[in-house]
Amino acid sequence: MSGYFTTKRHERLRQEVRDFAETEVRPLIPQMEATRTVEYELSRRIARQGWIGVTIARQYGGMGLGHLAKTIIIEELARVSGAMGAMVQASQLGVAKIVHFGSKAQKWHWLPRIAAGHCMPTIAVTEPGSGGHVLGMTASAVRDGDDYILNGRKVFVGNSHVGDLHGVVVRTGPGSRGLSAFLVESNRPGFSLGEHRPAMGLHGFSFGELIFDNCRVPAANLLGTEGDGLPVAYSSSVLYGRPNLTAVSLGIHQALVEETVNFASKRHRYGKPLYEVAPVKIKVGQMQSRLMTARLAAYHAAHLLDEGEPCDAELMNAKLINVELALDSGRAAMEVHAASGLFTDSPVERYVRDAHHIYAPAGTSDVQLLRLGEVALGLGKGQWSQRLADSVRRQEPLGD
Ligand SMILES: Cc1cc2nc3c(=O)[nH]c(=O)nc-3n(C[C@H](O)[C@H](O)[C@H](O)COP(=O)(O)OP(=O)(O)OC[C@H]3O[C@@H](n4cnc5c(N)ncnc54)[C@H](O)[C@@H]3O)c2cc1C
Repeated sequence: MSGYFTTKRHERLRQEVRDFAETEVRPLIPQMEATRTVEYELSRRIARQGWIGVTIARQYGGMGLGHLAKTIIIEELARVSGAMGAMVQASQLGVAKIVHFGSKAQKWHWLPRIAAGHCMPTIAVTEPGSGGHVLGMTASAVRDGDDYILNGRKVFVGNSHVGDLHGVVVRTGPGSRGLSAFLVESNRPGFSLGEHRPAMGLHGFSFGELIFDNCRVPAANLLGTEGDGLPVAYSSSVLYGRPNLTAVSLGIHQALVEETVNFASKRHRYGKPLYEVAPVKIKVGQMQSRLMTARLAAYHAAHLLDEGEPCDAELMNAKLINVELALDSGRAAMEVHAASGLFTDSPVERYVRDAHHIYAPAGTSDVQLLRLGEVALGLGKGQWSQRLADSVRRQEPLGD
């Protein structure tokens, strides 16, 4: 199926990322699980492969290969390490706002650095008091001469502790036109990080707190114009966040299936491989079916983005399907493993813990369902994939 959407170039990229993940990332997993600290060095090494710049046009030094190639990169990293898949997706998510809303000067300054892996961008929207209700945010920016002064806190920011350039959406006025987006370098006075809080899974990844205490930022760091904050937040979430998190779930799902097949083949019961027990084979079959459906939804949505086609609904559905089906397969994998799956040296329990992290970002499943309900009822309010088609479309022909 995947060959219907992927070219030989995509498959070469997959092999390259898989080789890297197996040789450079997998050996570090026991240490990542044991220490639960942020993998700064490994994150940087991955960024230097150029993969954060997969959707950045070649003229800026990026790979220019588009969203399906991005999906494959994230999927292959997440197949080995959900944390490193999440790390790459978070910085690729940080690319979106510069590609869609950056000025010429901002693009020429930042995109080559990001593409080379010297700068890791983030996007910071969520606040402790508002969560997924973006318009409920209170962090603010006030104009002061040629600068803005930022105050407030952002939480759950992907790559908080490895990022160099935070794309921060804050209030510059009331209402939905009162949000604006700024590029804030991590070495600015008045900017600091909250303490890294280890989570249930994704050990090695950070999604922590950014603190702005009278942080002065030049007006030249404003993205777009004052009032563009909501479009920056929503377009980043819909066009990059949803397919990126889809890809993390897909990689974890692939790992769940592989690990369960491996376990059911090696373990013997009644003198035969465990998979000969009928309910076990059926569970493996259900996992395979879910994985195939999930990959189809993921690749189809990314392919439409690359073609510049309207596809907001496909992107939502891909996130919904991938998160939910990976969680369902996680339960089946645990059942097949029974007691053996419960120990912390069993890969399957790591995959299940990691899979839960993908539920909340870029819209929970309930939020995707609400939006899909609006699509069905004809209540949709336009599509970001249509509005920004020119900057979303794949920049370079892929060929073979
Ligand atoms: C791994 C990870 C990475 C993340 N990366 C980033 C990032 O890079 N940048 C960033 O800014 N944030 C990031 N986030 C934060 C993420 O966007 C939020 O978790 C999300 O917006 C939901 O906010 P919340 O967790 O506070 O839940 P809440 O918004 O408080 O929601 C709680 C519950 O209420 C439900 N709910 C709330 N409102 C509605 C509604 N209108 N309709 C239906 N149900 C609703 C939700 O579905 C959920 O079940 C990340 C989170 C995680 C876990």
